[in-house]
Amino acid sequence: MVTVIESLYLTCILIFCLYSDQTALYIRMLGDVRVRSQVGFEPERRGSHPYLGVDFRTLHSHAELVGSIPARRIRRLFSFQRHLLTSRLLRGTPHLSPLHFLDEDYCGQAKVAEQFLVLCSPLFSGNSLISLTLYLLTHYGLIELFQLDMVKVRRFLVLVQEDYHNHNPYHNSVHAADVTQAMHCYLKEPKLAKSLTSCDVLLGLLAAATHDLDHPGVNQPFLVKTNHYLAALYRNTSVLENHHWRSAVGLLRETELFSHLPTEDSLNMERQLGSLILATDISRQNEYLSKFRTHLDQEDLCLGNTSHRHFVLQMALKCADICNPCRPWELSKQWSEKVTEEFFHQGDIEKKHKLEVSPLCDSETNSIADVQIGFMTYVVEPLFAEWARFSDTRLSQTMLGHLCLNKASWNAMQPEEAEGEQAAATEEPSSRALPQGSQEC
Ligand SMILES: [Zn+2]
Repeated sequence: MVTVIESLYLTCILIFCLYSDQTALYIRMLGDVRVRSQVGFEPERRGSHPYLGVDFRTLHSHAELVGSIPARRIRRLFSFQRHLLTSRLLRGTPHLSPLHFLDEDYCGQAKVAEQFLVLCSPLFSGNSLISLTLYLLTHYGLIELFQLDMVKVRRFLVLVQEDYHNHNPYHNSVHAADVTQAMHCYLKEPKLAKSLTSCDVLLGLLAAATHDLDHPGVNQPFLVKTNHYLAALYRNTSVLENHHWRSAVGLLRETELFSHLPTEDSLNMERQLGSLILATDISRQNEYLSKFRTHLDQEDLCLGNTSHRHFVLQMALKCADICNPCRPWELSKQWSEKVTEEFFHQGDIEKKHKLEVSPLCDSETNSIADVQIGFMTYVVEPLFAEWARFSDTRLSQTMLGHLCLNKASWNAMQPEEAEGEQAAATEEPSSRALPQGSQEC
């Protein structure tokens, strides 16, 4: 009963904080249902039945997955105590390529986009997350500094990549690699770079690489309403983010990556990793954003202060996680299609099982343009406006410029879809070059 009251209280606060119904809609869609589902809690049943009655995995139309599902389920059961997977290291050893494409001079999003296209390339044989993270750990000198065992590092990254579900249209290891890439760019922003410690950088990169670990391809409301064991385990609060964090900790412990560090230090790393990953819970967007805004208004962010620096790292990771609308159109559009495909897939499952269709998940009543315009307006734009105020660089201004152009492009597609007119006016935005550092909004 206390849980219900607490949940309702949190929900009231959340609703009170929301500055419009539209925002609420996007927040709800993107993760937050803190009220107890009508089905109610059941005892955790992870041990006897790891997945919910509605097994959304089997509904993905990938024949090759059918045989692997039981194995995946069993592995999840032992996500905190897995010790017998060494053979995966042998079959998944990444090929470390010299990543010449990295945006060392972070000269703009266009270049970031090019890098991402390379990340997706067959060159990496699906190992972009492993290769990129390994490269960045080396690039920042973190392996030497923290005296990390290279075999353990590789094994950890192989397991991380494997624990992403690559049949998810959006929340897969390429998204994790993309976020890690973006995080690298933000860590190199001059204001941050000059203050960050090696530990901050290590945590920032690890958090980016693991921030969606074992994402099931559906959102929190889905897990709550289907009475998934994870929703019960984390009491309907930051369910996915808690699971991503705990899964990452499971892999850290399994691979003993930090076992040579004093226990207190490794526990502290785990806690900070959690704090970063939990910040990506989009339902807490307003909480983080208003705190950030207040700091910027009062000009009292002191990056020499550990907690302030950690807070900015949280904001950087939040930006990295949702920066796709700030990319050049061709790339941004692809990500938009992928994420909407995942939403609509969830909606299809909900329809199939006679569940209420979650907001923005109904392909019959929503379009990609609808979803994107709302997301950009109520979630991305406010965050990146503050980030640009903080970092005040050409990169952040360029990102805002792309955001503005992309939103205009989605808007231009709206009347075309609805009224079938003004087709001539809908110019493919790819032909519109955005000058670096421009801000057109
Ligand atoms: Zn993410």
